[in-house]
Amino acid sequence: MFEKTSEKYLLYLVRWQLSTPLLVGILFFLGTSALAVVAANLIGGLLFFWIDKKILEEKQNKVAKKYLMYLGRWQLTSLTLYPVVQLLGTGLAGIFIANLIGGLIFFWVDRWIFTGKTLPPLWEVAENIVCVDCRKKSPRGYRLVLALNYNRRKEQSPEFRCEPCSIKKTEELRKRGLQV
Ligand SMILES: [Zn+2]
Repeated sequence: MFEKTSEKYLLYLVRWQLSTPLLVGILFFLGTSALAVVAANLIGGLLFFWIDKKILEEKQNKVAKKYLMYLGRWQLTSLTLYPVVQLLGTGLAGIFIANLIGGLIFFWVDRWIFTGKTLPPLWEVAENIVCVDCRKKSPRGYRLVLALNYNRRKEQSPEFRCEPCSIKKTEELRKRGLQV
């Protein structure tokens, strides 16, 4: 539904502001103690899982595991929410700011929970290469430089591949569990 990371990021920040009135209401009744913040984040996590799932998820699987991780993640937000309510109180402005900070940071955590994606892989593109696989000359060649658990930044003799061979190689790496 939402393709680009920037679109998802914006939508996600708006979603955090949806939880603002909820947190204001709960903390109005429970106060600003650490326990109140933990309880508020438990309720928030239980409800907003379903919205964030819609925004971020690409493959529908492992719902129970994602739900648990997500509830744990909301408790991490207690670390950003608690100091802010101590300083600014539980008014709308304080929670608004706390949720802006939280959304900016936790987008990356939630995206990881829902998609397993961490950082985007880094590729190097070179012109006029000879492909290491098919040995054909190609006006443009590619090599993967950096991904999670994969680092070829200091490669002595970098290996470039033509586009079809690069696609084939990428599929192989994916089958080996690499995030590319
Ligand atoms: Zn090739």
